[in-house]
Amino acid sequence: MAKHGLKNQSLANSGFVGFAERAAATLFFVFFPADCRICGSPLIKVSRLPVCKSCLLALRPLQGSYCSVCGEALHLPAYVLREDSNPSETYCGETRCQLCQRTDPPFERAVAYGSYDGALRDLIHLLKFQQVRPAAAVLGRMLAEAIANLEQAMPVGSIAVVPVPLYPRKQAQRGFNQAQMIARTALKQLSRPKRFDLCEGVLLRRRETGSQIGLTRHQRRENLRGAFAVSDTARIVNRDILLIDDVLTTGTTASECARVLLRAGAARVWVATVARTLKISDVISLSGNLPEDLADEESEDRVGMAAHG
Ligand SMILES: [Zn+2]
Ligand SMILES: [Zn+2]
Repeated sequence: MAKHGLKNQSLANSGFVGFAERAAATLFFVFFPADCRICGSPLIKVSRLPVCKSCLLALRPLQGSYCSVCGEALHLPAYVLREDSNPSETYCGETRCQLCQRTDPPFERAVAYGSYDGALRDLIHLLKFQQVRPAAAVLGRMLAEAIANLEQAMPVGSIAVVPVPLYPRKQAQRGFNQAQMIARTALKQLSRPKRFDLCEGVLLRRRETGSQIGLTRHQRRENLRGAFAVSDTARIVNRDILLIDDVLTTGTTASECARVLLRAGAARVWVATVARTLKISDVISLSGNLPEDLADEESEDRVGMAAHG
């Protein structure tokens, strides 16, 4: 013992301990990022996922009222919130947003775990744009929660799970398809995983599509027209399909995939994503009404879809 103590003492005196500590620290920072990749605060624990505890705790499920069809946030008009009004009279049983009241989307229901902002958006970006693959495990757990909620509404029997595909060149660049990766981890978390049959490669992306940013709904739909195809109809015909993606933004991609799957013989299409944007609802809540141009585009989109379907 004394010898040890002495030895250490002498090593300490020779500066070895300091060197070893510095070397260990260097190794630590080589193999493990020093800071949380979301908020930048130093990481205390070594983890495969370089995200701090407080950022992980900030990943929260959606709260509030949502459209029972498309999952868009419902902002109750001011008159409903008056003391003398009875919200249950105004909204008895009907939880559809204005768009879904006008026309049915091509999918039965779309659900998401959380809002596409803050830490959740950052975590999705870590996976997609910085290739931090361990993020898929956390995102998969959240997707599993969204699917579990949806499962109650789905008919009994086997479900074909179809991740939204990437164009092959894009997938090669990224090294993976995030929707497929998240779907795989999510299915392992479900209480009845055998009910879900992961159908990878059944839906194909036939061409690269430009960014949807800044396009009107009509333009977005045009942008995606003919972008998807079903490679193996036998795997989806007369089946309930669960379409999976990381994010639902405008719903145009999910709608286009749903149309293609229905045309190929699917019985119904359901949609689950980790996150969704709630921007359209903000527009509605500010004005109290859906802007006419937006409403018309959406209706036209859905009516057009029905005609094609
Ligand atoms: Zn953090
Ligand atoms: Zn809706």
